[in-house]
Amino acid sequence: MKKLISTALSLMLFVSSNAQVIGKTEITQWRDDKKGAVSITFDDGSINQFKQAIPVLNSLKLPATFFIITGQIPGSQYHGKFIGRPVKDIINETATVPTNKDNIFERASAAGYLGLVGPLDYHYKAGSLVDAGKMDEAIKVIDELYLKVRNGEFKPGIQHNVEYADAHGTTWNDIRRYAAQGHEFASHMITHPRLAVLDEPNMIYELEKSKADMLKQMGPKYTFSGEGPFGTENERAMQYAHKVYPALRNRMPEPWLKEISRSDKSNPGNTDKEYIQFQRGGTTKTPMPMMKAWVDTTANKNNTWLVLTFHGVDGIGWEPLTHQQLNEYFSYIKAKQVLWVGTFGDVTRYIRERQNATVQSKQNGDKINVSLTHSLNKSMYYVPLTLKTYVPETWKTVKVTQGNKSQIVKPIGISGKNEKYVLYQAYPNKSAITISRG
Ligand SMILES: [Zn+2]
Repeated sequence: MKKLISTALSLMLFVSSNAQVIGKTEITQWRDDKKGAVSITFDDGSINQFKQAIPVLNSLKLPATFFIITGQIPGSQYHGKFIGRPVKDIINETATVPTNKDNIFERASAAGYLGLVGPLDYHYKAGSLVDAGKMDEAIKVIDELYLKVRNGEFKPGIQHNVEYADAHGTTWNDIRRYAAQGHEFASHMITHPRLAVLDEPNMIYELEKSKADMLKQMGPKYTFSGEGPFGTENERAMQYAHKVYPALRNRMPEPWLKEISRSDKSNPGNTDKEYIQFQRGGTTKTPMPMMKAWVDTTANKNNTWLVLTFHGVDGIGWEPLTHQQLNEYFSYIKAKQVLWVGTFGDVTRYIRERQNATVQSKQNGDKINVSLTHSLNKSMYYVPLTLKTYVPETWKTVKVTQGNKSQIVKPIGISGKNEKYVLYQAYPNKSAITISRG
């Protein structure tokens, strides 16, 4: 008898502790309550990314993000040009005014537009020095360039950078078709410049006019992400770029996001940040086991977003991998079912929406009512969030309704606890969600 009473008591306790949790709703850290996320990104839009890598991605049903150089695509409105006074005036001025930190950006911006073959290389060299914080050396490079220009050491002609040339063959029609297959396309600027050495008018031209062509050809969804070439984190360039693109792979502004850049050798360790963006680049020299280890590291954590960067494919583009290598690697990622593979833009949207969302739930008779809202710009932030709502243990199946859409969901039990919850996708700022016995 005593035993029976204690069993009854403990049952009541269990029921009441379960009752407290019923209706409790949270937004899972990652979509579908996964342990982490992976974004596969490609830079420069070299042609085999589309001809060879996209078929591999599609066969595995994996989405990717492609940062493309918009100026070289036929039909684009904006192409590389120098915004400023006549370049002849700039060349003449260099004979009497040495390069300094105030005029270097104008001179470096004009370098590719002097009608000569060779000076563009100096734009890149000076840009990489400014990116590395070596302004004095960059000034010397630009002085050397204009001395050679004045001495007539370059042949007339038009020079494009390698990335620009490797992207030859892409059309907007093709890109729209790949986007319809679930891939994200995003700006890698008009000409793939070194943003760090552009002056204000040319910086704004590269950022905004590339976005204008993305908008015109692809629509607003594809103006969300961007990548300043060469992974620049130049402070000045980032200030301009963040005003134009809400999500930059170069760098994000969020205090709750720790970023490990591609050049940083460290692995995600302990952190008090909610999320870690772990960037890694796969190049010709990267051993496959190392690339797989990045995925393992991400799967073993709970807060990590692996952002992978690739360039060339099958011989075309910088540091190419073969499509066979990509197939092996992407299959490995796909097999990690604890990871969500989403585009750079969608993962950004998800985590920002989650950070800005309010979820409220109330038990109402035999139903649970849930509302989900966020304060972000609704035209840019529209991805569904995964909600986790605790339901009575007696419910075997659960019906989740939002607006005129209903789905039947099977609850998941928590081992060792008599609690059950359901996972479902919900759209923020839309109709309230009703949860009932299915
Ligand atoms: Zn690039």
